[in-house]
Amino acid sequence: MADPIITKIELHTYTFERENLGTDYNGFNIVYEPGNRIKHQGNVLRVETDQGITGEFAGGRDAEFSTIPIFAHFLIGRSALQRELIYTEVKRALRQVARIGLAPIDIALWDIAGKLYDQPIYKLLGGYKESVPCYASTYHGDHQPDGLSSPEAFADFAEQCLEMGYPAFKIHGWGRAPVSQEVANVHAVGKRVGDKMDLMLDPACELITFGDAVKVGWACDENRFFWYEDPYRDGGISQFAHRKLRQLITTPILQTEHVRSLEPHIDFALADATDYVRGDVGYDGITGVIKLAYACEALGIDLEFHGPGPAQRQCMAAIRNTNYYEMGLLHPKAPPSHEPELYLDYRDELDAIDAEGHVPIPQGPGLGVEINWDWVERNRVSVVEW
Ligand SMILES: [Mg+2]
Repeated sequence: MADPIITKIELHTYTFERENLGTDYNGFNIVYEPGNRIKHQGNVLRVETDQGITGEFAGGRDAEFSTIPIFAHFLIGRSALQRELIYTEVKRALRQVARIGLAPIDIALWDIAGKLYDQPIYKLLGGYKESVPCYASTYHGDHQPDGLSSPEAFADFAEQCLEMGYPAFKIHGWGRAPVSQEVANVHAVGKRVGDKMDLMLDPACELITFGDAVKVGWACDENRFFWYEDPYRDGGISQFAHRKLRQLITTPILQTEHVRSLEPHIDFALADATDYVRGDVGYDGITGVIKLAYACEALGIDLEFHGPGPAQRQCMAAIRNTNYYEMGLLHPKAPPSHEPELYLDYRDELDAIDAEGHVPIPQGPGLGVEINWDWVERNRVSVVEW
């Protein structure tokens, strides 16, 4: 069987609006805001081959696609099955731009392989499970009377998620709140549901000082949180600081969401600077994240995947050493943070779980999902080809 040869790369960009969402103090965090509308931009990457098989990846911020002109010539005319060669050459080519742009191409190439062999990616990678348990991952706290505006509101929402079947719940706290409010939130949610579900806290690097991170960490300790993630303003990348934090608290730490590529992730673990390791298929591709999963397995620790998506589900289903799928962002009133129109047969929303709090692994070939091209074309603003 001849290899499929890459003939063309296309980037389709579309815009869409979301109601009842806004941004908080600095214009970065998306939060619940009734009556407001925000406009977003989305992308779908297509890698075409001479055999009529096309790899597709939907998602990724615009920056991820900004480097395609650097390496597109290396892909055209090459076998779409040379994922490892492409990973290593493009990783080197992008070394001066933080390796941004490696992932979308890699995921599209895996989609091609799955379609060629007529199997979902997780079966090509090993096939460990057919569904994954989810945690409800909240929007950042807001200031709306009917929103996530108080510790009581977070505790109510955690209880709602528990009743729906979620086995775990993760708080994204407020932007620029007093640290006492973050501490009170950990206690309120912990007291309400802490003995019935696994709880996580992700300040998303909002806390201002290392001291704040320690104070909130002590609250997590009291409530036996399952993990504490990216607490403060180092931006999640200081190995020294997180090793110090681990010496001061007992809650397991989850770092490396904001670290790109394999080697620095493992350096973080070897420096005793994290307990769980975070991996992101949107940064390092399926190839990079699966290498990371095996490296973590060799260390006897778990890899936790950032964010929801078809590629995350396919990867999680292929490995043993991982705990929870991040369903989000979720809120009692706000719409989903991902555009639900993008796929015809796939959803990441509050009620997308089954009674046990699991989501299934798409069983179609490749990523196993069908993009709603009618919707993409109706909302499209540009197509760029290489
Ligand atoms: Mg995070």
